[in-house]
Amino acid sequence: MAHITNHMPTAELQALDAAHHMHPFTTNDELAEKGARIITRAKGVYLTDSEGNEILDGMAGLWCVNIGYGRQEMADVAARQMLELNYYNTFFMTSHVPAIALAKEIASLAPGDLNHVFFAGSGSEANDTNIRMVRTYWAMKGKPEKSHIISRKNAYHGSSMGSGSLGGMSYMHEQGGMPIPGIHHINQPDWWVEGGDLTPEAFGLARAQELEAKILELGADNVAAFIGEPIQGAGGVIVPPSTYWPEIQRICDKYNVLIIADEVICGFGRTGSWFGSETMGIKPHIMTIAKGLSSGYQPIGGSIVCEEIAQTIGSGEFNHGYTYSGHPVCSAVALENLRIMQDENILDHVNNVAAPALKEGLAKLAEHPLVGTVNVAGLMASLPLSPRKETRSKFAGDAGTVGYMCRERCFANNLVMRHVGDRMIISPPLVITPEEIKVFMTRATKALDETYTAVK
Ligand code: PLP
Repeated sequence: MAHITNHMPTAELQALDAAHHMHPFTTNDELAEKGARIITRAKGVYLTDSEGNEILDGMAGLWCVNIGYGRQEMADVAARQMLELNYYNTFFMTSHVPAIALAKEIASLAPGDLNHVFFAGSGSEANDTNIRMVRTYWAMKGKPEKSHIISRKNAYHGSSMGSGSLGGMSYMHEQGGMPIPGIHHINQPDWWVEGGDLTPEAFGLARAQELEAKILELGADNVAAFIGEPIQGAGGVIVPPSTYWPEIQRICDKYNVLIIADEVICGFGRTGSWFGSETMGIKPHIMTIAKGLSSGYQPIGGSIVCEEIAQTIGSGEFNHGYTYSGHPVCSAVALENLRIMQDENILDHVNNVAAPALKEGLAKLAEHPLVGTVNVAGLMASLPLSPRKETRSKFAGDAGTVGYMCRERCFANNLVMRHVGDRMIISPPLVITPEEIKVFMTRATKALDETYTAVK
């Protein structure tokens, strides 16, 4: 077997990578021209690449490494669990302690009567579960026609056929025959880009009322559920106007439409509460979880389900499950992650230390000529770039060109800030310190200055 190590020259690793490894959301041309950035190790909030650069990870990987990289306790728990019981399934009347303990812990953290967990391997799988779960629920209630699901344009709920269909990204729907039937998309509450002359509050109300119009168009007896992230993440960290979620809640209550809150990014402290639904005042029937559940140390996701749905579904056999549902090593690692979050009071750190420091730093960045505004909730934020912030103008040319340029300047300055179109996205590990936030701001300012010089 070929021995490939961190010590090989970067160019060799890049060539092997381009030759054999198909990457998500990447073209062969990009890989061949530039070569992937090879990350070799990570600790705390810093990544190290194969050239020895120390990069501040302003994205916590893909919004997931909430407790930071390289924690010994997590590795110890994984090793112990692998030796004790590396695998067993939870099908056909079997269970094991890691899955039991994790389900119990999640139920104790979740709000209201969200007290059952159906495990999956990822957020995509969990959202696929949710499609089948809400349709099965209504069928078991004698309403099989109540099967349509309403989501939002530009939402991201995963990449599988079901979850990608729930998502509203048109460039994803162009490939592979999505969306599957019975899924509909209303407009998103993105005031900065789409709000026109309306106040944010009036716009939020108008966008929420599109849900009522869609329910009436489809017939309330045909609509199973509405799905939304409390705050859209991959769509561009779109913090909805304050009027939005209360109106969505009112409409769902009125028409007996279930609410699925996709907490894959917002869950486990990202917005300063355990769940984004608490931050935004939503009362969901199901919450999708993944990412921060294990801080990305192991792949695990799931659906947290309210009592009524869990009892109804469980009164028959739910013909659904994944080989790795409740995987013992992933469950043990996720449980350890939740222990660390609680023992180290990471939510207090977010609310009292990190989020105020981030907010203060972002307020300074907002004065930069390229930065249109700042959207921030806890430790997720976006900076929409604009040539004229007073009018919320877009750049001439293809959307995303300036954002991409800024992302590249961030990389060059050893900072990971992602871009969604011309919005810069921030989601650092929750354990980031004020000193590290200062480093973030210095590098971000330099990247913004260099981008500004290139585009002005
Ligand atoms: N839901 C949301 C809100 C997400 O942001 C993501 C991933 O970014 C997913 C679902 C899909 O999760 P996964 O990539 O674990 O399948």
